[in-house]
Amino acid sequence: MAATVIHYGQEAFEGLKAFRGKDGKIRIFRMHDNARRLQDSCDGTLMPPLPVEKFEEAAMKAVKLNERFVPPYESGASLYIRPVLFGTGPQVGVKPANEYMFILFVTPVGPYFKGGFQTTPFVIMPSISPDKRAARIAKELNLTNEQKAQLQALFEKEKIQMDQKKGQMQQQKAEMDKQRQEMKKQREEMRAQMEEARKAEDAEIRKIVGEEKFKQLVEKREAQKQKMENFMLVASMNPCPCGYYNHPEKECVCAPGVVQKYLSRISGPLLDRIDIHIEIVPVPFEKLSEMTDSEPSTIVRDRVIKARQIQELRFRDTDGVYCNAQMSSKQLRTYAVPDKAGSELLKNAMQRLNLSARAYDRILKVSRTIADLDDSENILSHHLAEAINYRNLDREGWAG
Ligand SMILES: [Zn+2]
Repeated sequence: MAATVIHYGQEAFEGLKAFRGKDGKIRIFRMHDNARRLQDSCDGTLMPPLPVEKFEEAAMKAVKLNERFVPPYESGASLYIRPVLFGTGPQVGVKPANEYMFILFVTPVGPYFKGGFQTTPFVIMPSISPDKRAARIAKELNLTNEQKAQLQALFEKEKIQMDQKKGQMQQQKAEMDKQRQEMKKQREEMRAQMEEARKAEDAEIRKIVGEEKFKQLVEKREAQKQKMENFMLVASMNPCPCGYYNHPEKECVCAPGVVQKYLSRISGPLLDRIDIHIEIVPVPFEKLSEMTDSEPSTIVRDRVIKARQIQELRFRDTDGVYCNAQMSSKQLRTYAVPDKAGSELLKNAMQRLNLSARAYDRILKVSRTIADLDDSENILSHHLAEAINYRNLDREGWAG
C-alpha cells in the first residue's frame, strides 16, 4: 500500500521491438540504447539504475521463450517488449524506496503505422523508344505488322508532343530563373547606389562642418543606433472592454467570450517575449492611506543598484552584455540553472499553465534577477515561484 510507485510515481518503463529478419533470425531493435535510456529515467526518479546487462539478459530471455510469437518477416508486425521498473518498498516520507521490482513482458503487435510500411503508388518508368515499346506490345499481344505500325506511329506522335511540352517548361523555368537573377542584381545595385549617395553626402557634410564636428556626428549616430536596438517596453491594457474584469467591487458587464477575444488580440508569440505581465487591481482608498509603513524607495533603489552590480560582475567577460535581460539561451543554461526542487516546480508549472519554450526562458531569466535582488547566488524555488507568478496572461485562469 505504501509502495513508492503509487505515491511518488517511482516508475520508469521502456518499449522496444523484436523483428524477424529475412534470414529467419530474430533481432531486438536498439536494445542497448533502451537499456541506457531506462537508466536515465531512473536517474530522474531517484531509482538506482538497472544494470544494462540485466536489462539485455531479461529482454533476450523473454524473446527466446516467446520465439513462436514473433511475427514473420515483412508482415510489418513485431514482438513488443515492455520493461518496467518500479519502487515497491514501503515509504511514507519523501524518500526513494529501498526495494524495486523489474518486470518485462512481451506481446505481438501490429505495425506502428496503420497498414504497415507500404510502397508508394508511384512508379519509375524507364524511358523507352516508341519503336521498342510498340515492338514489345506487339510481341506480348501477338499483333499484326499493321497494328504494330499504327501503335508505333501513335507513340511517336505522343513522344513529340511530350518533348515539346518538356522543352516549353524548361524554357519557362530558365526565363523565370533569369528574371529572378535580374531582380536580385537590381536590388543589389540599388543598395550600392544608396550607400554611395550616403557616402557622398557624408563627404559634403564633412566639408561643411569640419573634421572634428563630423567625428562627433558619427559617434552620435552610433549611439543612436545602439539606443534603438536596446529598449525596455512598458505597456498596459485594460483587463476587458468594460474595464472591470476582476475588479474587487464593480461587476464586469462583458458578455461571455468577449474577455478572451479581447485578450487574444495580443498574439501569443508577442506575449511570450514580454518578461513580466502582472495584473494590477485597484486599491481602495482606505488601503492606500494604510500603506505608510512600506519600504521607502531609497532602500529599493539600493537593492536594485546592488543587483545590477552583481550582473555587471557576472558578465564582465562578455562583450555587450551587462544585465540578465540580455542573456542568450546559452548563457541562461550557465547562469540561470535552478536546483532540483526548482526544476521540478518549473516542470509542473509548464505543464499546468501550458507554457511555451519561450515563456520558460523568460521565467528563468526573471528568476535570475529575483535571486540577484535577494542577493542569492542560487536560484531557489521561491524565486522561481515568484517569476512564474509574473506571467499572468499566460494562464488559462485568465478569462478562462
Ligand atoms: Zn468587462
